[in-house]
Amino acid sequence: MAQRYMLGANWKATARIGASACDQCSFCTEFCPRYLLGHPIEPHKAMRSLGYSMVGEANVIGTLFCCECNLCTMMACPEDLDPSKVCVQNKRRLMSEGRKWEVEAVATRPELHLDNRRVPIGRLIRKLGLADFKNKGPLLEASLMAKRVKLPLKQHVGAPAGAVVKVGDAVKCGDVIAKPAENQLGAVIHASISGRVKEVSDAIVIEA
Ligand code: SF4
Ligand code: SF4
Repeated sequence: MAQRYMLGANWKATARIGASACDQCSFCTEFCPRYLLGHPIEPHKAMRSLGYSMVGEANVIGTLFCCECNLCTMMACPEDLDPSKVCVQNKRRLMSEGRKWEVEAVATRPELHLDNRRVPIGRLIRKLGLADFKNKGPLLEASLMAKRVKLPLKQHVGAPAGAVVKVGDAVKCGDVIAKPAENQLGAVIHASISGRVKEVSDAIVIEA
């Protein structure tokens, strides 16, 4: 496996190596799931911006759409560069400046490309150097019964869920114990065991 020499490098090294070694092949963009969904993110253009003394906002404004999946760095780049870090760095700066998504998505791009750009998991495993750890078993069947669970109210994007149970309530496995406020992005949280609510803070503790 090629050495992932960019991983763990500081920003200055990432930017300097990226500026000198990126050949603008655009594989990072071609693999980017956000690009394939039609969003105006093109990591190879963010890499291009490294070669200039001024960023060139048109090259990086789309980085606001980066979901930080790391696929461009871990899978796509044949030079082992770190386009993900370059996108995230730009995204953080744009967000701190209060910039918003300003470019429309290309609605036809998913139809054209998505089916042909799926990442083979076996190849990703090899590329990440994890093939030696792939082990199918033997697996043992076992039933584990938790006596106590702690379920954080924030385990998703958006706002933390609001508890709909209080200390002392009896809950059954599957009951809704927290949900997002109206018109807020979030996730409903369910009890994973039956029992009694012991604590409600930034997490709900249930004991069987
Ligand atoms: S880390 Fe960002 S730029 Fe890279 S593939 Fe994922 S979404 Fe695209
Ligand atoms: S895949 Fe690598 S070499 Fe190609 S454009 Fe992206 S960062 Fe540059």
